[in-house]
Amino acid sequence: MSKVKILSGKDVANSIYDKLNDRIISLANKDIIPGLCVILVGDDPASQIYVRTKTKKLKSLGLLSEAIFLPSDVSEKKVINIIGDLNIDNQYHGILIQLPLPDHIDSHKIINEIKPEKDVDGFHPENVGWLSIGKPRFTPCTPKGIMKILEYYNIDLDGKNIVIIGRSNIVGRPISILTSLNSKGANGTCTVCHSKTNNLEHFTKSADVVISAIGMPNYLQNHMIKKDAVVIDVGINRIDADNEKGYEIVGDADWTSIIDKVSAITPVPGGVGPMTIAMLVENTIEAAEKFG
Ligand code: NAD
Repeated sequence: MSKVKILSGKDVANSIYDKLNDRIISLANKDIIPGLCVILVGDDPASQIYVRTKTKKLKSLGLLSEAIFLPSDVSEKKVINIIGDLNIDNQYHGILIQLPLPDHIDSHKIINEIKPEKDVDGFHPENVGWLSIGKPRFTPCTPKGIMKILEYYNIDLDGKNIVIIGRSNIVGRPISILTSLNSKGANGTCTVCHSKTNNLEHFTKSADVVISAIGMPNYLQNHMIKKDAVVIDVGINRIDADNEKGYEIVGDADWTSIIDKVSAITPVPGGVGPMTIAMLVENTIEAAEKFG
């Protein structure tokens, strides 16, 4: 029988919600209800599901949560004006722009407009800077969630070889910073691979921990990893399936090919995804505590 450990982000998230409840009550005693406003541009069905899942979770915990849905042809100026209003609206401690934005809107420019103290996604350049020097103000939700999963399951990265596949500002880049920080649970030796990496297998084969964030189903195969590696599968991919919905969600790892070789792995769904939402809730509460 396999001794593989399934790293359930769902379980970790539930343990975090239990702890956050005390912080929500302390804030309520000071008449503060943490509030988040999410802006979604366009009608991408996956993004709409993400936004509704996020706002629903916050509401279920008694937090204030609103979503502004804008048409895909909205002007950049209009989005900037809405952010300007939210920056000075005291009921919202967090502002989140659901990415990606349509091509005619410059996402860097838009993120730059968010007041850094309300940037609960941690994507504003000022917050990225704080993170890079090991003094995070807001840590981006998905990488923060990955670190919490590793901590919960006592997977210490100290001295380990970590290979990250993907270099986005949302996942790959910030997780490379977090895993290599000089701090408890981190201290990993980190390699970032991406679409231009030559002979990517050369790197993944020697990794103690592989973090895959590319968005390609069945990408990570048995021959690409070493025995007993830990795999953190960030990918969310929709593939056709013979079920009621007509599709299913899978990660980047070819589960059947690698499951007998890994020592631990996050499932998709139920791995990193639930943690991204839990960390958004935590960051919104942090924003209310620090700046409310
Ligand atoms: P992205 O498209 O911005 O970045 C993808 C990265 O993968 C790029 O850096 C690119 O260089 C790399 N890449 C692409 N093809 C490659 C290849 N063949 N070999 C090596 N590298 C390759 O995507 P993202 O926003 O970082 O998201 C990545 C995946 O993670 C997506 O599936 C996304 O849906 C998922 N995601 C999940 C969560 C979650 O909560 N679980 C959160 C964010 C993103």
